[in-house]
Amino acid sequence: MKYKHLFFDLDRTLWNFEANSEEVLEDMFNKFDITTLACIDSQEFIDNYREINHGLWAKYRVGEITKEFLSTERFHATLRLFDVDNFGLAKKMGEFYVKESPYKKQLFPGTIELLEKLSNKYKLHIITNGFSEVQYIKLEQSKLSKYFTEIIISEETDWKKPSPEIFHYAMQKAGAIVEESIMIGDDLKADIKGASEVGMDQIWVNFDNTYAGFKPTYTVDSLMQIEEIL
Ligand SMILES: [Mg+2]
Repeated sequence: MKYKHLFFDLDRTLWNFEANSEEVLEDMFNKFDITTLACIDSQEFIDNYREINHGLWAKYRVGEITKEFLSTERFHATLRLFDVDNFGLAKKMGEFYVKESPYKKQLFPGTIELLEKLSNKYKLHIITNGFSEVQYIKLEQSKLSKYFTEIIISEETDWKKPSPEIFHYAMQKAGAIVEESIMIGDDLKADIKGASEVGMDQIWVNFDNTYAGFKPTYTVDSLMQIEEIL
């Protein structure tokens, strides 16, 4: 058995970010009665929100806007599209979204079964880019915490994936050496190239069958396939 330590990413690898986000947006749509206010159905609202959110995230990543601005503006701009210009409401929606999201529990098919089996043979750990408060709630609520020995959250370190430092830090915390470690994640840059840079093997979880442009150690398109590799 070559590997002893398996490092997992959380969002979009085990925790179904898109499905959970959709659920929160539906709840929000109903709670704030957006149908009456903007005369639209939830799908139209969500589709437009996604497009606006995507554009704002691109600006946030390059430092053009702050996280606070992003959090409210994505709803403010969506509402404005439907002639509802209400900053106070948008702010409440932004707060609702951030507060409620981590309580959603949808995981990708096979997550628990896989972790049950692997945890008998390996030490499992998490390396995630995110905020501590949110990520711990997600792990607890979706009943994942018990499978992981070390949980490394970028906010608690000085680095984010793909920085080599966060991988070194994670291995040090886990008492792992690189030859016995493997990174499992969906993000080609953050998880796969990041791990590859420090000499760690990788399993790319490529649910959408997109093209990598280079060869990760292993590629799977479902979690069940990971069992065949390990
Ligand atoms: Mg991810």
